[in-house]
Amino acid sequence: MRKPIVAGNWKMNITSAEAVQLVEELKPLVADVDGVDIVLCPPFSSLEATCKAIRDSNLLLGAQDMFWEESGAYTGEVSARMLLTSGCRYVILGHSERRAYFGETNQTVNKKLNAALGAGLVPIVCVGERQQEREAGITQKIIQDHVTGAFEGISAEQVSGVVIAYEPVWAIGTGLTATPGQAQEVHAFIRQILTGLYNSNWAQQVRIQYGGSIKPENAAVLFGQPDIDGGLVGGASLAAGSFAKIVKGV
Ligand code: PEP
Repeated sequence: MRKPIVAGNWKMNITSAEAVQLVEELKPLVADVDGVDIVLCPPFSSLEATCKAIRDSNLLLGAQDMFWEESGAYTGEVSARMLLTSGCRYVILGHSERRAYFGETNQTVNKKLNAALGAGLVPIVCVGERQQEREAGITQKIIQDHVTGAFEGISAEQVSGVVIAYEPVWAIGTGLTATPGQAQEVHAFIRQILTGLYNSNWAQQVRIQYGGSIKPENAAVLFGQPDIDGGLVGGASLAAGSFAKIVKGV
């Protein structure tokens, strides 16, 4: 039985003071939620404040990215150990915005995945096709490339601890949501790829989130699909009320 996971990706929003306020609003709204991993992913600058604010609650901390080296002359980057010592348990890797604006590739995602697992973080690996790729009928090819590229050299034991987020790029921040059927089809395909790379036993253990314009109104039906194990939420995670409703949709 896979434990559902709902993560809020705050992107480049929320100062430290705003993070504390958002957490204080969210905590009572989800205090009775059991059996779901609820993860908040603030910008690096708000990690410590968020970490303090979530103490003694059922909320968990994640980061939005990391670098694969342990330390050194890499201006602007942070390592897996830095995230761990800032209280993070999770890290998002290969988000489509990092692929589109910051040169992230399947190869760099793979290096980061290795480093994150080596350090003991739980990676959330994002995969997803762009609109023109879906229209060209190559969604499965893109997903296959993203998954096989990211998991190159990752062992079966390690893969069970990874979370995958299927995020069709055309649905991120656009208000367009994949239909439950479209999302389920790709989630089942991802599990099929994992079955081919490892075996069905390992593939069944991997949690696969859906992401792309999740709202309180569409969360429950998406999360009700057999291969959808929760969500990665952008815009709607910036308001405590809507994020709590989404969490409760699991
Ligand atoms: C995201 O950025 O991961 C995301 C899913 O954003 P939104 O929910 O705003 O579409």
